[in-house]
Amino acid sequence: MGYDVTIFEAFHKSGGVLVYGIPQFRLPKEIVAAEIENLTKMGVKIVNNAIIGKSITVDELFEEGYEAVFIGSGAGLPQFLHIPGENLLGVYSANELLTRTNLMKAYRDDYDTPIKHFHRVAVVGAGNVAMDAARVAKRLGAEHVYITYRRGRDELPARKEEVEHAEAEGIEFNLLNNPCAIHGDEDGHVTGIELIRQELGEPDEKGRRKPVAVPDSNWVLDVDTVIIAIGTSPNPLIRNTTEGLTFTRKGGIEADEGGVTSRPGVFAGGDAVTGSATVILAMGAGKAGAKSIDEYIKSKK
Ligand SMILES: Cc1cc2nc3c(=O)[nH]c(=O)nc-3n(C[C@H](O)[C@H](O)[C@H](O)COP(=O)(O)OP(=O)(O)OC[C@H]3O[C@@H](n4cnc5c(N)ncnc54)[C@H](O)[C@@H]3O)c2cc1C
Repeated sequence: MGYDVTIFEAFHKSGGVLVYGIPQFRLPKEIVAAEIENLTKMGVKIVNNAIIGKSITVDELFEEGYEAVFIGSGAGLPQFLHIPGENLLGVYSANELLTRTNLMKAYRDDYDTPIKHFHRVAVVGAGNVAMDAARVAKRLGAEHVYITYRRGRDELPARKEEVEHAEAEGIEFNLLNNPCAIHGDEDGHVTGIELIRQELGEPDEKGRRKPVAVPDSNWVLDVDTVIIAIGTSPNPLIRNTTEGLTFTRKGGIEADEGGVTSRPGVFAGGDAVTGSATVILAMGAGKAGAKSIDEYIKSKK
């Protein structure tokens, strides 16, 4: 549409989850790099290592002369279980594990990024991110990787193909088990995850049968690493540094289908609005946001 566009990206590399989250074996990074190169060829400027809310705020962008701001900062804040032992050495969020390996190339000798050499890994959660984390852990050399999930096979939230690929690669499914504690040794390293067996009870409001703990069924699965993959939410940094926006109960920016927020000139879309969703929805939100920005800028003139 002829506007000057600048992207401010917190990481040293652009591409979001497509670069730091989704592993190379599912989405070759060369494809993402080619897309980003197309943007720069079109004249889009990209400023890396720029954290909005820290390096510069949304208000300061307007002061610098930007006429509109689109917030597409994703949902990169991992959720945790809040159980004892979660701070032990050897507990990762899926985000951290994936970022260390995908973006920071921890598996390569010519990179300094440290990663634990693990043998027995429990992944808590059973969505697509859990499957990616499990398959990455396996590729990093783990002998046993267990997907630990409180519901049963019919309730697995991951896409069927992702489950099949994980199984084909030897990922073990430890279903109907809910973690209640992570155990460690005197040096603070993980030694096991304590689980409570579950049975499926009545369906919840979404129709999914609720897991119910079986009394006195606790047991400990011996592992040296626990990866938590139970979901993410939008990082509160922009929320805490930008006036005039409203937010959903889960921390997403409130915006309509065109990305229009409660603050004139500020637009938003993708996971930052919806919470963790899909690439295609985020791309669609970007297009809708661009249209709304065009209408907004024209209406001011
Ligand atoms: C492991 C994993 C696997 C997935 N697999 C699939 C899949 O197979 N298919 C699918 O459709 N979807 C998948 N998804 C979901 C999909 O990747 C996301 O829905 C999509 O990337 C959202 O795009 P986005 O642009 O809204 O956010 P993101 O891709 O998260 O991009 C947000 C960008 O904003 C940057 N940022 C954040 N805060 C700031 C700030 N304050 N200042 C500057 N920059 C900031 C981040 O560094 C990031 O680069 C997966 C997600 C994960 C985590």
